[in-house]
Amino acid sequence: MATLGNPQNTIEILKKYDFMFQKRFGQNFLIDTHVLKKIIKSAEITKEDLVLEIGPGIGTMTQYLCENAREVIAVEIDKNLIPILTNDTLAEYDNVTIINEDILKLDLNALVQERNGGKRIKVVANLPYYITTPIIMGLFESHVPLQNITVMVQKEVADRMQAGPGSKDYGALSLAVQYYATPYIAANVPQNCFMPRPNVGSAVIRLTLHEEPPVQVKDEKFMFALIRASFNQRRKTLVNGLTNAAELNLSKEQVQAALEQMGLSATIRGEALTLEQFAELANLLV
Ligand code: SAM
Repeated sequence: MATLGNPQNTIEILKKYDFMFQKRFGQNFLIDTHVLKKIIKSAEITKEDLVLEIGPGIGTMTQYLCENAREVIAVEIDKNLIPILTNDTLAEYDNVTIINEDILKLDLNALVQERNGGKRIKVVANLPYYITTPIIMGLFESHVPLQNITVMVQKEVADRMQAGPGSKDYGALSLAVQYYATPYIAANVPQNCFMPRPNVGSAVIRLTLHEEPPVQVKDEKFMFALIRASFNQRRKTLVNGLTNAAELNLSKEQVQAALEQMGLSATIRGEALTLEQFAELANLLV
């Protein structure tokens, strides 16, 4: 089987099956072998690994994964792609399982238990951009045993995941990602590496899961509610942001007292606080 990273081979397969791209599934297939190799290298795939691929498309990256990993599970929502994968592009590999499902509906804990004895797996994907955040947060919050997640995302989203306090990109997504993992942007990827070309720039980001959470929090849910409220009204002070959030039910006096105890100014904004400070604040207010 010719590698699909070559655009000519991709076009041939698409023609052979009369495949129509579905915009609603965020279908932008990779057609650049350098980028594909970079993703595999960044994910640090070895022959020991079980890899979950989200959205294999016509199997371009899946071929590389099958060559480099012990076993691959590829979950694809578009039923029109399944015959291409099973009868053609992945037909020669016996270490791949293709599942025709919506990744957001799959019980991944059960899958990892059954296929990897509950041991940690790696996730690799050129993600459908319309559901980047639900997929990543779903993986984290359901506590699927993971070593790392290496994904192609919108460039702007990669920047937000990696940002720290003081940056314009810093926000609830940065803190949520960094609570669970260490982000590393491995490559910026231009639009012409995809077919069809997306309207936005892309980046490959690797999220290496923490062995232990970097901060101790009494109530994770409360800390994340606090973080969301702090960034909901970016221009407001933290005190106003938190007291305006009805679901938190906090008084001005409570928030001011907690900030004072932490040695922070009463006029500080949420964007200035580190994850450690949000954790401390949450532990004082819960
Ligand atoms: N991996 C291929 C590549 O790099 O060429 C395709 C990547 S394309 C950006 C995203 C893929 O995810 C498409 O094949 C799309 O059909 C699939 N997809 C979209 N939503 C999905 C979902 N909810 N569950 C599983 N797959 C999904």
